[in-house]
Order: sequence, then C-alpha cells, then structure tokens
Amino acid sequence: MSGTAGLVIPCKAAVAWEAGKPLVMERVEVAPPQAMEVRMKVKYTSLCHTDLYFWEAKGQNPLFPRIFGHEAAGVVESVGEGVSDVAVGDHVLPVFTGECGECSHCQSEESNMCDLLRINTERGVMLSDGKSRFSIDGSPINHFLGTSTFSEYTVVHAGCLVKINPLAPMDKVCVLSCGISTGLGATLNVAKPKQGSSVAIFGLGAVGLAAAEGARIAGASRIIGVDLNPNRFEEAKKFGVNEFVNPKDHDRPVQQVIAEMTNGGVDRSVECTGNINAMVSAFECVHDGWGVAVLVGVPNKDAVFMTKPINLLNERTLKGTFFGNYKPRSDLPSVVDMYMNKKLEVDKFITHRVPFSDINKAFDLMVKGEGLRCIISMEE
Ligand SMILES: [Zn+2]
Ligand SMILES: [Zn+2]
Repeated sequence: MSGTAGLVIPCKAAVAWEAGKPLVMERVEVAPPQAMEVRMKVKYTSLCHTDLYFWEAKGQNPLFPRIFGHEAAGVVESVGEGVSDVAVGDHVLPVFTGECGECSHCQSEESNMCDLLRINTERGVMLSDGKSRFSIDGSPINHFLGTSTFSEYTVVHAGCLVKINPLAPMDKVCVLSCGISTGLGATLNVAKPKQGSSVAIFGLGAVGLAAAEGARIAGASRIIGVDLNPNRFEEAKKFGVNEFVNPKDHDRPVQQVIAEMTNGGVDRSVECTGNINAMVSAFECVHDGWGVAVLVGVPNKDAVFMTKPINLLNERTLKGTFFGNYKPRSDLPSVVDMYMNKKLEVDKFITHRVPFSDINKAFDLMVKGEGLRCIISMEE
C-alpha cells in the first residue's frame, strides 16, 4: 500500500459549477476507496463529446457541481476491500461502462452491457453507498460516469478499471478508454469487413475515423467517408479513407449515390453521427444479399428509424453497438497491445495537448470543432 492509502487526499480538480461555464480549478478532498473501489492517480485525460454534452446540459437534467472526464490513463494509488484484479502501481484505464464479470451480460459472450456497471449518466455518486468520494469543505461534488478524471485523483469501481501493459505510453493510450475503441470495435467486432471489401463511414469525427481505422486494419480496399464538412476529407486520408461523398454535393439521396459508386451498395457501413437521416442512409447504402450496417452514433431520444422492410428481406443486416462491443476489462488490454504492436495507429488521433491548468482550452477546441483529441496532462 502507498503512504496515502486510507487517508483523504487533497488535490486539484477541475470542477464544473454550472452548465456551459468554464471549469474552475479547485482544491478537492478525495476520500479513500470503499469495498470494490480503487483510487487512482490520473496521469493523462482527454476530452470526449460526452463530457461536452453533459457539461452543456441542454438535453438532460443538469447535475452540478460535477467533475467530468472519462477518457484517461493513470496508476492505482490504493484499493478498497475485496479488490483483487488490480494492485497498487498498476497502470489502468478507467472506463465509463464496466464489467462485473458475474451478471448475465458479463457471462454472455455476445454482450458487453453489464447489468451492474452499465453506463449511467444520471448518477453522481458511488454505487456502494450512494455517496460521493469528492468534497470541498465537506460539501459533496458529483461524479460523472463513475470516472471523473478531471481530477488528480479519482475513485472508480474496480469493475470499471482496465489493467494495461505498463510499457504502454499513457499519454497516448488514454484515448482508448472511450471514443477510439468505440469506433474501432464497431468495425472490427460488429461490421467485420473482409479483406478487399468496401466500407462506408458516416461522420468523420474521432469515432468515425476510428471506425475507418478499423476498416483499414481489416484490409478494406474502398473506404468511403461521408460527411457534410469537406474540411474533414483531407485529414481522413490519414485514416485510410480513400473516397469521399458530401451529401450536400448531390440532389439525390446519398444512399443512391453510394449504390451507384459501388455497383449496388457497399459491403459494410458504419454510422457515427447519430443523425437519424444518416442512419437510414447508412442502412440503405449497403448491398443486398450480404451488406451489414452498424449504428454507433447516439440519436435524439425521440428519433424513429424508418425503412421499407423489403430492405431487410433482401438480406441486408442492421446492427447497433455500444462501446464497439468490447467488454472493457477482458478486451481493452488487447486493444492497447494492438497499438504496441503498431497495428493500430493512435498518435494521429491526438491533435492537441494542454496542461491541466488549461483544461478549458480543450473545451474551446471541441466547441469550435477543431482537432480530434486534446490530451490534458495532469503533471505539467
Ligand atoms: Zn456484469
Ligand atoms: Zn467518451
């Protein structure tokens, strides 16, 4: 155990006091981990759209003050009772959705949607006792997604921590704890394109480009990027995207354009925007007989998917995925190893870096739609 085990740790955290207002660097107290919890020292964290979405709090119940952050890497500082899978000093990725190992989902080979530790955006406290581990002058500060990585120390359920190769550079692999694995897994685990096949990717943000990276790794020969923003096309080339379609350039539906380009449709498509029209297009642009479309982007909660059933009867498959179908604790170590073996290229996703004190700049960049991932270094 480390010298701080069992003690409250005072440290710096970026606290969101109000929706859409800049985070404020505060001195917070982080309580020791309880049973089945782990306290980790965050080394690097990055900003994901989910942080931005809940910080803006336009579409949901606002929960403030709160410590955001869920893409990160760090080191175990101390563990609570009953924790046996990780030990002090282990390098870990916290994940917004967990793997208890015991529920029917964890027992199923086909699911990663753990009953106990599935993503919960409304909860601001720890599962075991319904309390927060963060406080300022005795007043609790809400957690976010069970991770809250915009703090030098955080407490996470042991089932939401992935032990990784200690040689992996944490300032790179931190991005694998959410967005990049989501897109990559959607292609590699769900769409499963064959070597030499064609894949359409809808939405060329970080998740879409990670889906393209998956297609590149799988050996797809035609990777067609679809986006309304032509500025994204140049960057997408680095991710194996070799053809582009901007729906705005055409007066007919984009699925028709893609069908014409590919002699009847693409073999696979992956939808990463969450726009309902793009979702329908992504399904209708796959080839009959074998085409598979995978939905990744999260739509408006009232959106309804409409297509003619004959499109399915003609042997097209529509699938959805959550976190790229990866079981976090079981599968993410191998994603880290894919990076270590130079199969998966992570560096090209990292377009900006800022010290922790400048965390609001990372928000500014994302609000402006600039870059893909901004790494926030806790120790600079
Ligand atoms: Zn489970
Ligand atoms: Zn995320």
